Amino acid sequence: MAECIFCKIINKELPSHVVFEDDQVIAFLDIHPVNPGHVLVVPKVHSDNFLEMSNEDLNELMKKVKQIAPAVQKSVKAEACNIMINSGRAAGQLVYHTHIHIIPRFPADGHKHWHREGDELDNLPQIADKAREALNS
Ligand code: AMP
Ligand code: ZN
Repeated sequence: MAECIFCKIINKELPSHVVFEDDQVIAFLDIHPVNPGHVLVVPKVHSDNFLEMSNEDLNELMKKVKQIAPAVQKSVKAEACNIMINSGRAAGQLVYHTHIHIIPRFPADGHKHWHREGDELDNLPQIADKAREALNS
């Protein structure tokens, strides 16, 4: 993928602050960190989105995330971390090369939890029905 910025980082055509690298994965600091130690874990083989990845490759990727997250958390003395994927434009995906965010979290760091309360949650049974239907189709 000639124009993909993460492929360019993998190929060392663009600089990055690498925290982990092996044959399959590279992890580097996010250029616009939400908090100190915000890392992106990126598989070296290009895919636009994690839904495109094979189960085998995903398994390897998640194993690396499990290894990297506690180390990064410790390195910035964070209390916790968010491990997340923005999948698709409306979910905030900006870079279409699969990546997993590890965002260290601190007490009262100002980032809100996105749980919200209100009557828009009243239709849980119907939503669950539709989700089960979609999974079974
Ligand atoms: P997403 O919104 O999930 O697609 O996240 C893409 C992330 O990549 C954003 O948090 C950006 O700050 C980050 N990013 C974009 N370009 C670079 C770069 N050259 N080096 C490091 N991080 C980058
Ligand atoms: Zn790419």
